[in-house]
Amino acid sequence: SPPAQSAVTDNDVFRGVGGISILDRMRLDGKVAYVTGGGQGIGRAFAHALGEAGAKVAVVDLDPARAEAVERELSVKGINSISIQADISKPEDVQNMIDTVVSRWGAVHIACNNAGINLNSASEDTTLEEWDRTFGVNLRGTFMCCQAAGRVMLKQGYGKIINTASMASLIVPHPQKQLSYNTSKAGVVKLTQTLGTEWIDRGVRVNCISPGIVDTPLIHSEDLKPLLQRWLSDIPAGRLAQVTDLQAAVVYLASDTSDYMTGHNLVIEGGQSLW
Ligand code: NAD
Repeated sequence: SPPAQSAVTDNDVFRGVGGISILDRMRLDGKVAYVTGGGQGIGRAFAHALGEAGAKVAVVDLDPARAEAVERELSVKGINSISIQADISKPEDVQNMIDTVVSRWGAVHIACNNAGINLNSASEDTTLEEWDRTFGVNLRGTFMCCQAAGRVMLKQGYGKIINTASMASLIVPHPQKQLSYNTSKAGVVKLTQTLGTEWIDRGVRVNCISPGIVDTPLIHSEDLKPLLQRWLSDIPAGRLAQVTDLQAAVVYLASDTSDYMTGHNLVIEGGQSLW
């Protein structure tokens, strides 16, 4: 396993010819990663980014066809990859995911716990079934992934956990019909803060990324179309996020250049949470 602390010295970094550049230090060669919800959207972009930076990547998704399709995209780029079908709300699937990655590559260095769901309904109509389903994937599922990956990482003395939270953990975005989603994502931030401080002295960093509104097919559905203009006027950047706007952040948090960062919520929302 890679060392818990970056082995790069000042001499390596500041000497002239032959020095190690910041881009070299962000490389993930030799690292083993998995990405849940990797079959589409943000997770797919994360899987590509980690693979391009040199990591071996397990693409994990509830939908096996999606995971396999992304795994093929990675293979075409020459990235060492596998696909795994798993429902992260099921403990046995989570454990199987970790066991599969470890038996294939002998380690888990980068755990990208990205899968999440959003069931929109007005708060007064939200059923306990919807609440439990949302929390079962977004918070309980993310916790189970953190714990199962964390157990391996603590033994290794090294690991980078990157959870996907949401800007909705901070503000209440329009439409205000996602009580269970917003609340579960706030939980992901607190989970990240707690694990991030608890495990850092054993070499495991835990951070999360909170995207704003990301331009995926999801937000172009008929019922959300009328909200698009409203959303755009809410964003200082004047446009929605693209999945590519998030890719460098996951590589940074996965690399040893972010070793001094833990429990952090990296918000990438074109300034929307500030307005
Ligand atoms: P998406 O719906 O496009 O893709 C999610 C993927 O996760 C799908 O391939 C789906 O099959 C998979 N998945 C769903 N439930 C799963 C489960 N139980 N186990 C394993 N895989 C499962 O979503 P996205 O827009 O790419 O969002 C990814 C993450 O980013 C989610 O956590 C979401 O809450 C968060 N997020 C999205 C936005 C946005 O605007 N799209 C904004 C902020 C945060």
